[in-house]
This record gives sequence, structure tokens and C-alpha cells, in this order.
Amino acid sequence: MTRLAIDGATPVHDGSWPAWPPAPDEAQRALVHQAMESGAWSSSAGPLCDLFAGRFAAAHGASHGITMTNGTLALFVALRAAGVGPGDDVIVPAYTFVACATSVVLAGATPVIADVDPEHLHLNAAAIERSLTDRSRAVMVVHLAGSPAPMQEINDLAARRGLLVLEDSAQAHGATYRDAPVGAIGDIGTFSFQSSKAMTAGEGGLIVTNDDELARHAWSLCNVGRRRGGAWYGHDEIGWNLRMTEFQAALLLPWLDRLPGEIRVREDFAQALTAAIAGGAIPASIVADPEGTTRNSRHLLILRLTPDTDREWVARALEAEGVPVDLGYPHLGRIPVVAEHARTSPTPDLDLVLERLLWIRQPMLMSGRSGAATVAEALARVLRDPRARSQAA
Ligand SMILES: *Cc1c(COP(=O)(O)O)cnc(C)c1O
Repeated sequence: MTRLAIDGATPVHDGSWPAWPPAPDEAQRALVHQAMESGAWSSSAGPLCDLFAGRFAAAHGASHGITMTNGTLALFVALRAAGVGPGDDVIVPAYTFVACATSVVLAGATPVIADVDPEHLHLNAAAIERSLTDRSRAVMVVHLAGSPAPMQEINDLAARRGLLVLEDSAQAHGATYRDAPVGAIGDIGTFSFQSSKAMTAGEGGLIVTNDDELARHAWSLCNVGRRRGGAWYGHDEIGWNLRMTEFQAALLLPWLDRLPGEIRVREDFAQALTAAIAGGAIPASIVADPEGTTRNSRHLLILRLTPDTDREWVARALEAEGVPVDLGYPHLGRIPVVAEHARTSPTPDLDLVLERLLWIRQPMLMSGRSGAATVAEALARVLRDPRARSQAA
């Protein structure tokens, strides 16, 4: 089938982009095979989950790593390991995945949704301060799109107020803030290996921390309340089976060596598109990193359109040009079932900011410099079309 752009013209691109996840490499095939043949398929029996947890943690500046089922439950376990539960408030950002609120609800606590700063889309100290109550126990920072949140001011405020700092790093494998890898800059951090993430085993999650007691407790909660090295049928507390399998670790271990190169490819894309925008042909911008960013891992590239742009029309026209983009998250507090369980006061001001964003997803970013040229051409064509203006006089 021949694709047609919005006026029946030839599209800028044929619509094929790099596959995600990429084809497994030799190291992954060999390790998955080894795990399969060993018969040790569970992390209770085989070495791979612990090996991966240790290496991933070390690469993220943490002394402890705990592999588990997924990023959503990693947030839940991190909260519970720190003793957050009924009667506690947890501050979460307004612009993030729904799991940031549901994990808090699952822990029995109340999510308090704080506005993100409109320029960088991150929580900052001022926003957290405005959302504090006398029940505030923790703040969940999200390194959105691979961009590290401003950790120094957040850690400083948290230290003054006695808050736990939990870093949701599901989108930020390998990102650094002031040269420190994200995840363990605060008290405890979580990662996801779900199929859309920068490292994936289809599903999976991991907790990192430098706190011995948090690590011990998190491991126990993921292992039916056992003590590490203790009796199989000894259970110190109520816990769950949230273990990762050895097959997942076999896919993830070799990925640690590939990650830096893949981040560079996405960075090339980001820089090439930034240059094309600065060249003046494209009425849009890329959301900027806050002060302190030393490596954005470029999980997503978030574009900001001009206020008069008809975002839905632009997304349809880009799709027709072979450059599919996403509208991204709504304000977390605008999801009715979240609003039912959270304290939130969405402001039209922030809605207006969020309604001007477009996401370029990771598979497209993996096309590097050449893909960026294609995307720039499509953006220039679509955004200069008069129909892209919603309030055109
Ligand atoms: C993907 C994601 C999660 C949840 O991870 P799962 O492994 O899918 O449960 C949580 N937070 C953010 C910001 C994410 O992007």
C-alpha cells in the first residue's frame, strides 16, 4: 500500500523506524540458552539475577540492587520498605505515568499531585514545598524522558523536612545529574525493564539504594518476607513473590555494555534535531534540561509547539508523513480514577503547557542523525502548513 501525506502528496518517509526491542545480540542468545539448559530458571536457584542486580547497581552508584517483576511494583516495594503506608502523603509529579499514583495507593498512602515546572516538566523544591502537609512522608521524583530532575534542591528540602526521596528512574537508565548516575542520589530508586524502556526483558524492575536497611527490607518484601540466607519457610513479615526470572536477567546483563552506545545514538538524534530547529525552519522547541544535567539518556524527546498550534491536526499530519508521534500523558490529576484516590488541584495553566507537547519515542530516536533529518523535514512541512494554526485569524 502506498502511503499518502495529508494532501495526497508523497510522504517524507516510508514509515519504517528501528524496531524496539532491537534483535538480540550473540551475548544475549548465549546467556538465555545457558539459563535454559541449566535448569535454574528462578533467581532462587540461578546466579544471573544477583549478578545483574550487582552490576546494574554499581553502574548506577548504588551498593545494593534488587531485581523484581516490574517498575510499578518496584515503586510500591520502595515505599513499603521505607515504612510508608496508611496515613502518609507521598508527593508525586503531575506529569508522569499512572504507576506513580497507583503504587502509592497500593502502599496504602495518599498521592499528593504537585505541579511540575512548566519549563522542564520536573518537580522542583518550590513545587514540593507548596504541596507539603503535616502528613508528608516521601517525595517521588521522576527522571522524565531520560532528563534528570534537579536533585540537589530536592535532597536539600527533603533533608530539612525529613522526607524520603524516591527516584522513579524507569525512563532514565544511565542518565547522570552532576556526574552522578540517577537512582541512588536520593534514598532509594527504581527502574523498569518493560518493553518500551531503554533496557528491556519484556518486563522487569529493579530497586537501587545505598541504605543497607532499605535494601534488606525491599529484598524481604520481594521474597515472601524471608530473610536473605535464612530458612526457606521462615517469614519475618508479610511479603510477596515479586521475583524476576533468570531468563530476564540473561537478556539484561549484556545490555549494560550496549547502553552507552545506544544513548549516544539517541543523543545524536537530539542534537541534530535541535540544530535543525535552531536553523529556523521549524516553529517548535525541544523541552530543555534543568541545571545540573550531565547526561540525558534520551528515552523520549519532548517537543513543545507554539501556543497557536492545533496539536491533534499536527499529529495526524505527521503520521501521514510517516513520522508517528505521541500526544503523551494528560495531567495525572485529570485521570478520574486517580483523582478519586489522590489530593490534586489541576490548574488550567499547566493543562495549557501539557497540551502543547508532542513525544518522539525511543525507536525513532534510535535512527540517529539521519532519522533526525527526516523528522525535521516532516516537522517543517507540517508545522508551516496554515492548517497547523488553530487560532489563525
Ligand atoms: C514505565 C514506567 C513505570 C512503570 O514500570 P512498569 O515496569 O511498566 O510497571 C513507572 N514510572 C514511569 C515514569 C514509567 O515510565
